[in-house]
Amino acid sequence: ARPVLEVRGARVEFPTRRGTLVATDGVSFDIGPGEILGMVGESGAGKSLTGMAVIGLLEPPGRLAAGEIHLDGERIDNLPPRRRQAIRGRRIGAIFQDPLTSLHPLFTVGRQLVETIRFHLDVSEKEGRERALALLKDVGIPAAEERINHYPHQFSGGMRQRVVIALALAANPSLVIADEPTTALDVSIQAQITALLKRLCREHGTAVLLVTHDMGVIAETADRVAVMYAGRIVEIGPVLDVIRRPRHPYSRGLMASIPGLRERAERLNQIEGSMPRLTTMPPGCAFHPRCPEAGPRCHVARPMLAAVPGEVTSAACWLHQGGVTRAAQ
Ligand code: SF4
Ligand code: MG
Repeated sequence: ARPVLEVRGARVEFPTRRGTLVATDGVSFDIGPGEILGMVGESGAGKSLTGMAVIGLLEPPGRLAAGEIHLDGERIDNLPPRRRQAIRGRRIGAIFQDPLTSLHPLFTVGRQLVETIRFHLDVSEKEGRERALALLKDVGIPAAEERINHYPHQFSGGMRQRVVIALALAANPSLVIADEPTTALDVSIQAQITALLKRLCREHGTAVLLVTHDMGVIAETADRVAVMYAGRIVEIGPVLDVIRRPRHPYSRGLMASIPGLRERAERLNQIEGSMPRLTTMPPGCAFHPRCPEAGPRCHVARPMLAAVPGEVTSAACWLHQGGVTRAAQ
C-alpha cells in the first residue's frame, strides 16, 4: 500500500541573531495505513518539532528549511497557508499531552464534536450529532447519550483524553499525530488510552505518528520505532527487532529503560551524560561523547542512516558501516 505519510529529509531551522540553529536534519520516514510509528527520544531531540512540521504548526521563526512532506501521495509542505490549514483536522488529526489544550472549557463536548464534524464534513446538525454520539461510544465513554451534554471539566483526565481522541478522529483523517498522549495521565489509565488508540487506528486504517519520551508506551503500541537523537533519526525499524536487538548504542540504553526488560539488559542501564545542545553540536557522530563504543572514526565523521546488513532495521552508526577504527574518508 502507498504510504499515508512520507517525510523526506526534513530539516527544521531556527534563525537566531547568532546564526541558524539546525533543530532537525535529514529526517526521513514513512507511515502506512493503519500503522503506528513511534518516535522516541529525549526532550529536545526533535521529535515534537518533526510532528509540528508535519501538521504545519512550527512556531515561527522555526521553519522547514529543507525536505518534503507528502500526505496520501500529495506534497503538502509547500502549500499556501490556507490550504495547509484546511488539511488540519480534516486529513491530519492531533492529540496532545494536555487534553485541556484541545478542548474549549465553555462548550459541551457534544457541541465541540458537532462543530468539528460540520466544519470538515458536509453533514446536517442531526447527522453531526449522530456521528458525535457514535464517536463518543467508539472511544469508550460510558453513558454517552448523557455525557455528550457535559462540559470538559466534568470528565476525568482519562475520559477527557478519550474525548480528544474522538475529536481528532471526527473527520476521519488519514493521519493522526499523537504527541505524548498519555504523559499527563495516571499510569493505570495510560495502557487503556494506548490500547484505544491502537484499536481505532487499525479499524479506521489511520496512520499514527506517536511521539513520546517513553519507550514503554512505544513497546505496547507501535509497529515500528524511530529513535531520535540530537535532531536526527539514529535508528528505525520494527519495534520488536529494535527492542530485542537495538543496533545503535543510544537505542541500547533506551531499551534498557523499558520496565520488565531491565533485567535482560546488559550493562548499559543508563546512558551517562546528556544530549548536546544545538549550539554546541560535536563533530562526527553527535553521540560520540556518550558512546561506550566510540572509536577514532566517530570523532571526525558523521554516520548516515543506512540499513544494517541483512536486517530490516537501519542505524546511523559506524559499527554497522565498516567499523569505528577505520580512518576517516
Ligand atoms: Fe557510537 Fe561511533 Fe556508533 Fe556514534 S558512530 S553511536 S560514536 S559507535
Ligand atoms: Mg516534546
